[in-house]
Amino acid sequence: MYDNPIEEARRQAQICNSCRYCESYCAVFPSMHASRIFSDGDITQLANLCHGCQNCFNACQYTEPHEFSLNLPGILAEVRQESWEQTAFPAALGRVFHRNGTLISIFTVFAMAALFWILRSFPGGGQGFYAFIAHNTLVAIFTPAFLLPLFALAIGLNRYWGRVGGERVRIPHVIEAFGSVAKMRNLAGGHGDGCNFEDEDRFSHKRRYMHQLVMYGFLLCFAATASGTIMHYVFDMPAPYGLLSFPKIFGIPGGVMLCIGTLGLMHLKSKGDPDLQFPQVRGGEFGFILLLFIVSFTGLALYAFGSTLALEALLALHLGSVLAFFLLMPYSKMAHGFYRLAALIRDAQRTRL
Ligand code: SF4
Ligand code: SF4
Repeated sequence: MYDNPIEEARRQAQICNSCRYCESYCAVFPSMHASRIFSDGDITQLANLCHGCQNCFNACQYTEPHEFSLNLPGILAEVRQESWEQTAFPAALGRVFHRNGTLISIFTVFAMAALFWILRSFPGGGQGFYAFIAHNTLVAIFTPAFLLPLFALAIGLNRYWGRVGGERVRIPHVIEAFGSVAKMRNLAGGHGDGCNFEDEDRFSHKRRYMHQLVMYGFLLCFAATASGTIMHYVFDMPAPYGLLSFPKIFGIPGGVMLCIGTLGLMHLKSKGDPDLQFPQVRGGEFGFILLLFIVSFTGLALYAFGSTLALEALLALHLGSVLAFFLLMPYSKMAHGFYRLAALIRDAQRTRL
């Protein structure tokens, strides 16, 4: 850890700016080369454009034992982390989660599952899951649990936008950023061979594919929940839903993709060199991926074993993990996705459009 990570990142960015060997690797270098002098906001923006693939470190001739001692992925990870902690609302919660994320995630899942286990003593008299927990009770819990973290995240992003000097957002900026996210363009390594995250001589697309599985799996699960809500309120079709209904057509493949993607990301993260990441926050990173895995796995288990005696326990565990996921969202790595999107929009403003 550096006393002043931004200052150290500035030193390293100035060396890269002279060298330019990694020009085509990712969005960081073209953005870096657009300036000669880096403000604190510019460094924060570069850090949030970096996704820690480690390609530049493995290609660099100035890493230790060279006196320049370059470790761009490591220092950008530290600045990135600091930027999330300082802009999170409230900031103290971000710091606590990043350092103890795995424990906090597990504790919150079990605490929330216990809450739902208790609530099932007051059944709602509905069908399916609602026979155990009333629909209105779920709405009363999940509506604020969804909206308040979004509000906290919006404050954090607004602070980030001010810090990096963001301008008025126009539609072409948003289209450019979403295009990059949809293809995970920056995880292709510039040359199209992917990252050498696991081993310095072996490029692979595994990291890109696992991120895509997580992102698209999450979006499908979100579509499953949204379609269920519309069927309930607009078409008066309450759960449970059949196998060929929209909630299940979206939810089952989404859950499978999320399970595979989160397991894959945990595996890849465990193989990456901690010194090229920010080792102090690995607990928070693992905690978030683990949380997503529990949400998807318990959701699939509910589909598979929902007609057995395990239903009540699985329901409490699944609802508890979903609630924990929402509550921890602004402080977990979920926020990373939103900050990264903001960084890509800002990048489109600065360098492309
Ligand atoms: S990481 Fe190393 S090789 Fe790449 S641009 Fe910077 S100084 Fe050059
Ligand atoms: S670690 Fe990867 S994403 Fe980050 S600056 Fe280096 S090449 Fe770019």
